[in-house]
Amino acid sequence: VQYSERRMTSQRQAVLEAVIAHGCHPTADDVFYIVKRKLPGISLSTVYRNLGVLVEQGEISAVRGPCSELHYDHDGHRHGHVYCEVCGSVTDVELSAGDLAALASLVDSGYLIGTVYLTGICAGCAGAEGKEKI
Ligand SMILES: [Zn+2]
Ligand SMILES: [Zn+2]
Repeated sequence: VQYSERRMTSQRQAVLEAVIAHGCHPTADDVFYIVKRKLPGISLSTVYRNLGVLVEQGEISAVRGPCSELHYDHDGHRHGHVYCEVCGSVTDVELSAGDLAALASLVDSGYLIGTVYLTGICAGCAGAEGKEKI
């Protein structure tokens, strides 16, 4: 039991390191490909399970993308996200004190805030589509 516990921990550590190494809201598949370089025998379901445990432990958070896929985030402070409607990339956006005050009043009213997000078209995709569209 002790051995498998330790193994779980080193896999979890590798999963956490992969989320940090990716640095930009990886999906479980992204994490899987990074972890596989270090632990070639790891399965996608093991990666999923460890991501779930890390979210439960509060080490990382999970944000749902525009196609309802989950992205994992290591940045612990409360921030918002902007999703590109074209390529699906997720970018952090700082919430100002005013934004947080608005959230605080919602929380006071009993609203359970999940994630704050905006949608748009990222600079790369906007450039490809023609800048006059924005
Ligand atoms: Zn884009
Ligand atoms: Zn984020």
